[in-house]
Amino acid sequence: MTTTIAAAETGAVRWTCPFCPLLCDHLSVQASASGPGLQLAGGDCARARAALARHGAAPAGVAARVDGVECDLDSAIAAAARLIAAGRQPLFGGLDTDVAGARSLYRLACRTGAICDAGEGLMHGQRALQDRGGYTATLTEVRARADLVVLLDTAAFDVAPNLAERLGLGGDAGGTRRVVVFGPGGAAATLAGHTHLQVETLPYATDLHTTVAMLAALVAGRRWPGAPVALAALAEALHAARYAVIVGAAGSLPAHGALVVEAVGRIVGTLNATTRAAALWIGAGAGPATANQVFTWLSGLPLRSRAGPRGLEHDPVCHATARLLDDDAVDVLLWIASIDAAAPPPTSLPLVVLGHPALAPACDRAGSVYIPVSTPGIGSAGHLFRTDGVVLLPLFPVYADTLPRVSDVLDRIAARVGR
Ligand code: SF4
Repeated sequence: MTTTIAAAETGAVRWTCPFCPLLCDHLSVQASASGPGLQLAGGDCARARAALARHGAAPAGVAARVDGVECDLDSAIAAAARLIAAGRQPLFGGLDTDVAGARSLYRLACRTGAICDAGEGLMHGQRALQDRGGYTATLTEVRARADLVVLLDTAAFDVAPNLAERLGLGGDAGGTRRVVVFGPGGAAATLAGHTHLQVETLPYATDLHTTVAMLAALVAGRRWPGAPVALAALAEALHAARYAVIVGAAGSLPAHGALVVEAVGRIVGTLNATTRAAALWIGAGAGPATANQVFTWLSGLPLRSRAGPRGLEHDPVCHATARLLDDDAVDVLLWIASIDAAAPPPTSLPLVVLGHPALAPACDRAGSVYIPVSTPGIGSAGHLFRTDGVVLLPLFPVYADTLPRVSDVLDRIAARVGR
């Protein structure tokens, strides 16, 4: 067993964490064949610790399955190709893979006419970007320059536990900066005690939609009768700031979240006429965001697109996974979950899953094919886009995996799909 572990038992390996869109590269992993498996080193993060606990110190010995019965990889790939090729309208979802996996997925989607979608969270920002454009910041810019950080909700800390540290809000980053947190006080309590921060919590004015609409009006100099005094004061503070950044969790936005993203874009656009401001959206996962980038550069269109008989079609509403499933508009699902083991496929349709070994039991039923795949950043190298969308980070394997990569499996399926 120890021969497959790249890291020395007591040493730490260079590592980029793939388990949330921050892609922290200041931590490392220690692999111990005799101990409890993979362990985080050089810092802490509850989400990374939980994700590492789902991996052993050595590659998993999980077999592929067809209809819940174990089989060899070749048989599973052949069955997957048959299932996808038999579908009149395949849907590719999950999309939790790296750049190489997304490139292979795009080729298979073109060959099969599949619709590809990674969920609502990604589309909130995408639709606002398509309609109005946007201003964004990198994590480094926020850490180095922002003197006012507005957190729209506390969900961003749940998605990305090290967010405060990565934005320069933890530790002693030097220079005083003001942080305004909307919603419950938990996040503000997390930030309390840092002497370089002035932290305050504000309640929503009714709800998030109303709050950002109101703030956009106030920042633009319009009157809003009944607007809370604290919100008017925040509008003034945003104008007075040298560099204000508004941070939110895209995957946690309520229905019609694109309107929230668009209102934040208006606030930032107004401020940029006289000072400097940006928005930073924390995505739900690095895999889906990476797939969106890859599909856009390969086809010119983002996810929720289809390469079919009518050419390339993009429909951010009709090509939503939930809607397609509710309307029985798709008849086979290919589900990719190579990074997040807690992401089971949401359907009883004929199913092909390329997933973490922990997903195998969820696929044990008739009409399913399960193929275990390597997790980039654990068993194989790879690349993922960080949440700020402009930084592509390399992933380093902790051990040499015996499982195939998503891209390898997809390429072999594509070679067998005859159309
Ligand atoms: S914050 Fe995200 S990327 Fe950073 S260590 Fe935690 S799970 Fe990994």
